[in-house]
Amino acid sequence: MVFTTPPKTTLVTIQKSTYNDINIHALLQPIGGMKHYIQKGERVLLKTNLLIPSEPKKAVVTHPMVIKALAKAILGIGAVPFIGDSPMGPFTKRRLEKAYQKSGLVALAKELGIELNYEMGSTKIIIPQAKRLKKTMFCNFVLNADKIITVPKIKTHSYMIMTLASKIMYGAVPGLTKAKYHSLFFKRTAFADMLLDVLSVRKPDLIVMDGIVGMQGDGPSGGTPVDLGLLLASDDSIAMDLAVCDLLGIEPMKIPTLRQAKIRRLWPTEIQYPLLSPQTVHTKDFRLPSSTGLITLGLKNHHQLPTPTKKCTACGECVEICPKQAIQIRESLAVVDYSKCIACYCCHEVCPYEAIQLETRR
Ligand code: SF4
Ligand code: SF4
Repeated sequence: MVFTTPPKTTLVTIQKSTYNDINIHALLQPIGGMKHYIQKGERVLLKTNLLIPSEPKKAVVTHPMVIKALAKAILGIGAVPFIGDSPMGPFTKRRLEKAYQKSGLVALAKELGIELNYEMGSTKIIIPQAKRLKKTMFCNFVLNADKIITVPKIKTHSYMIMTLASKIMYGAVPGLTKAKYHSLFFKRTAFADMLLDVLSVRKPDLIVMDGIVGMQGDGPSGGTPVDLGLLLASDDSIAMDLAVCDLLGIEPMKIPTLRQAKIRRLWPTEIQYPLLSPQTVHTKDFRLPSSTGLITLGLKNHHQLPTPTKKCTACGECVEICPKQAIQIRESLAVVDYSKCIACYCCHEVCPYEAIQLETRR
C-alpha cells in the first residue's frame, strides 16, 4: 500500500487523562468511535512501543494501562486484540518474553485473556513508490493483522529528535535489520525518508498516543519521565505528530520525519481538534535531546558521540546492536572506535543500564 493524498481536514482528539481514568470511548467518539475503525471478529494488532525490556515507570515503553483500555474497547465490540512489537536487538522469543514481562504486558494479557505475539517470521516486501527503501523484510504479525492500532508514546529521540506516530511502525522491521538500516541510511534525511517508506507499507487504521507520562531529554531510553497528562487519537500519523509538536511548542520542521513528510506532501492541509486544542494544553519547557542544537545547526565537526561510563556492566548489548561494529568490550568496559562510529545512537538506545552518555567531541 502507498500513501494516498491525505484528506483535506484531519481530526485529532486530545483528552486530559491519568493512567487510572482512561476513557477510550470519549477520546474516539468525535472521530467516529471504535466501531468506525474495527469490526466484529477482526484480529486487531495493538502495536505498542517495546523498545527494550523496561518497566512502565521509566517511560521508555507504552504504558500497559493504555493498552489495557484499548484492548477492553476492542473486546467490547467483539473483535480480537493482540499485542506485538519487534524490540531493538535480535527478534527472539526470549527477548520478547523479557520485554513483555518487564513492561507489565504478561500480567495484562493474562488478566484480559488476550494474546501476546510470538510469531517472529517476516516477508520480503517491495515498496514500488518508496523514496529510499525499495524493499524490506516486514514482520508477518503486522502483515497478517486485520487492523492495526499503533500506540506510540510521546518521547524524545537523540537521533530523530522525537519518536512519535510516524516512527512507531519501524517496529514492523524485524530485529537487527533496524540497526542495519542505520548504517545504510546514515544521514538523517535519508533515515527519515526510510521511516516514511516503512510507514507507507501498512498505514495504521488508528493511532492512540500515550502522552500521559512522556519522556524528555536524551530519549528514547535514557531521558527522564515528564508528566503531560494527555491522550491523543487520530487516523493520520502525520497529523498526530504535528499536534504533538504544537502542544509541546516544537517547530515541526525541526523533526526530520515531519520535514520529509512536508516535502512529500503528506501533511494534512488542516487539522481540527474536536476536544481540546494544543493551545489549551500547551506544555512549557519540554526538554529536547542534548543533540538537537547540533543537529539543527548542522555542525558536522561537532558530533555528540556515545561515551560509555562506569555504569557499564559489559553486558554486550551495544556490541550486538552496533551497525558498524564500532564497539568492543575491553577490561569489562564498552569501548567505542570513533573512526567507525556513525553517531546513530543505537547503542545509547539499547543500553539497559543507561551507561552510555552522549558527549560532544570534535
Ligand atoms: S555500555 Fe551498556 S549496553 Fe554496552 S556493554 Fe556496557 S552496559 Fe551493556
Ligand atoms: S558506536 Fe553507537 S552510535 Fe556509533 S555506530 Fe555504533 S551503535 Fe551507532
